Amino acid sequence: MAKTIGVTVSERIQAGLVVDHRIVGPLHIFPANYDPDSEDEQDALVELPTEGLVRTICDQIVGAAQGATDIQAIGVALPGLVRNGVVEEAPNLPQLKGSRIFELLRNELATRDIQAPVTVLNDADGCAAGLASLHGRLDSVVRVWTLGIGIGYGRYPFAEGVWEGGHTVVSLDDKERYCGCGGRGHMEGIMGHRAMRLRFLDMEPEEVFEAAKLDPSTGHCADHRCLEFKRLWHKALAAGTASAIHIGGAGKFFLTGFNVRFVDLPMLKDYLQQMVKMSPLQSYSMEIVNDDAQTRVIGAAVTAEQAAGL
Ligand SMILES: [Zn+2]
Repeated sequence: MAKTIGVTVSERIQAGLVVDHRIVGPLHIFPANYDPDSEDEQDALVELPTEGLVRTICDQIVGAAQGATDIQAIGVALPGLVRNGVVEEAPNLPQLKGSRIFELLRNELATRDIQAPVTVLNDADGCAAGLASLHGRLDSVVRVWTLGIGIGYGRYPFAEGVWEGGHTVVSLDDKERYCGCGGRGHMEGIMGHRAMRLRFLDMEPEEVFEAAKLDPSTGHCADHRCLEFKRLWHKALAAGTASAIHIGGAGKFFLTGFNVRFVDLPMLKDYLQQMVKMSPLQSYSMEIVNDDAQTRVIGAAVTAEQAAGL
C-alpha cells in the first residue's frame, strides 16, 4: 500500500493524502475559500513571490500528511513546462519561470522533517495519470486535452519530452495569431478561452456557441460568423488530435476542462474521420470527462509513486 501525497497548483493549491490511488481525508486547499469570480483570489498565487509560493505548497503538503511519518513519495503538478526539476515556462505563474522548483521544494520540506522523494510534473500530465488510474488504464497510453483558459495536452505514462500539444499548428492562415504564447496558427489560439475572447471582442465564448446553434424548425443558423467559428474550433481540436495520432498512434483521448461544454462529439468525430485515414490508426476513441481536483491530485501522486519505483 503506497502512501503518497499529490498536489496540484493552478489558480489555487490543492493537496491530498493518497493511499493505494485513493484520496484519504479532506483536500488541503489554499486559498481556502476560493471564489473563481473574485479577481483578487484568481491572482492570489500569481502575487506570491516564488519562496512564498513554495512555502505555501509545503504548508498544504504538511496538512495533507495528517501527521503521517511514512509518506513514500510526493508529486507536485504545476501549470507549465517542467524539465529536470526546473520550470522552463509558466505563463500562468510567471514568477516560477526559471526556478529550480525541485530543489526549492525538497529543501523546504527538509526543514519540516519530510524526506520523501519529490516529483515535479506538468499539470496536464498529472491529469492524464489521474484519468488512467480512475479508468483502470494504468497499463496503457492515455492522452488528455484540457480545454480551459489555455489548451493543455497531457499524456500518461510519463515520457521525456516537451509535449506542448496545445501549441500544435493547426492553421496556416496568417491571421491566426491569438495564442497566448504569441505563435501563429496554434490550436490554443483558436480554442483557448482567452483567445476566443480576443477574437470576439463583442461576445463571450458562451454567446458565440449559443448563437452557432441551428434553428430546429428551419435547420439554419442565424449567425454565420458564429457557426463558422464553431466549425473552426472543432476542426482545430480534430487537427491537434489527428497530429497526436499520426505521431504517437491511436488510443484513448480524454477531453476535460471547463470548455468541454462546447464540444459537439459528432462534429468532432466527423472531422477526425476526414483527417485520419490510415486504417491501423483508426482505433482511437474520444471521451468527455469531468475535470475535478481529486483526479489531478491522484494523478500527481501516481506519477510520484511510479517515479519513486514503488
Ligand atoms: Zn501557442
